[in-house]
Amino acid sequence: MQRMILSWLKSRIVTKNLNELDIRRDCLEIINQASIEKFRSAFRGFRRSLHIREVDAGSCNACELEINALNNPIYDIERFGIHFVASPRHADLLLVTGPVTRNMEMALKKTYDATPEPKIVIAIGDCARDGGIFKGSYAVVGGVDKVIPVDALIKGCPPRPQELLYGIVSLLGRI
Ligand code: SF4
Repeated sequence: MQRMILSWLKSRIVTKNLNELDIRRDCLEIINQASIEKFRSAFRGFRRSLHIREVDAGSCNACELEINALNNPIYDIERFGIHFVASPRHADLLLVTGPVTRNMEMALKKTYDATPEPKIVIAIGDCARDGGIFKGSYAVVGGVDKVIPVDALIKGCPPRPQELLYGIVSLLGRI
């Protein structure tokens, strides 16, 4: 036990500042500036805490792996007061991945309707933009904007965690 405590005390902090990370800043594309501005001013009233509901609308799961990494000690998204929640009713922001499959179309619409205003939607990855490698498949509707309004896009296949972090934090006007 004593050895374990000593090793905790000796271990260094691994969390990286945003400016220490290698970020491609063109990964973020803002689609609806007016909606983002409206959300930012409401967000200030939330005392800077923000809740995200992630929706996998049909992805290959690689985008999810990168989103999961946001909670590890290196990227540590919670230090910004940003948390993932299990219900859209508790969320301020929807992160949507994948091309929208026909099976997920209705579920995505219902999730959007269940999220209270003010809210924003960020499409994650090239599939969420226009169907990506699944474009044209009989099983997919297409990009997320074919089903619900999208306010911003973080590009990549998949986008890296540092780009997801940069995209979310900069949309909130925090950098
Ligand atoms: S963008 Fe790439 S990683 Fe993300 S769901 Fe599509 S194929 Fe998978």
